[in-house]
Amino acid sequence: MSVLSELYEQIAGCQQWEIDKFRTRVVAGEGAEDADIMFIGEAPGWHEDQQGRPFVGPAGKFLDSLLASIGLKRDQVHIANVIKCRPTGNRDPLPAEIRNCRQWLERQIEIIRPRVIVTLGRYSMAMFFPGKSISKIHGTAQKRDNVIYYAMYHPAAALHQQGLRQAIEADMLKIPSLLAEAKDIQEAKPQPQQLSMFEV
Ligand code: URA
Repeated sequence: MSVLSELYEQIAGCQQWEIDKFRTRVVAGEGAEDADIMFIGEAPGWHEDQQGRPFVGPAGKFLDSLLASIGLKRDQVHIANVIKCRPTGNRDPLPAEIRNCRQWLERQIEIIRPRVIVTLGRYSMAMFFPGKSISKIHGTAQKRDNVIYYAMYHPAAALHQQGLRQAIEADMLKIPSLLAEAKDIQEAKPQPQQLSMFEV
């Protein structure tokens, strides 16, 4: 069994918190274990809770079509969420839930070691771009310790608002060049303390 599958078994068995009592299935994540690109959403919705898989409802279908627009299928990337159990009634995740689940996301990133981390929506963005506003930084990237962090709108929000939909479609199209850039950075092996912020 791979290290990631072991982690996913551990996550599936998590019963440490109140939210665990209301879930049908834990949604740990799925996709390539050595993915170059990792997408991080917010929390499972109803469909995800039923199936135990991330982004399988309407927002997931839209994410699949966004991936197809850059020639990727979901098994070529990794898809996960900030929290692993569905908040009841589709409410927003609570700060305590985000804190409790953080250890899982950190382990996922450590094991998968993606070159590009794409945040989907503001809860995911807040973990990697604290204090920023999604409307200002969507479509922009930050390079840190040889990884590129890239903020995008959540596909569910973009699904019903034409303006956001166009923005998320355009932002998705920038990912291949970010990945090429991430590969160059990693091959050049810059010092970890070299930090830079840039817009694409
Ligand atoms: N929205 C999310 O943020 N994650 C999912 O897995 C599904 C919908």
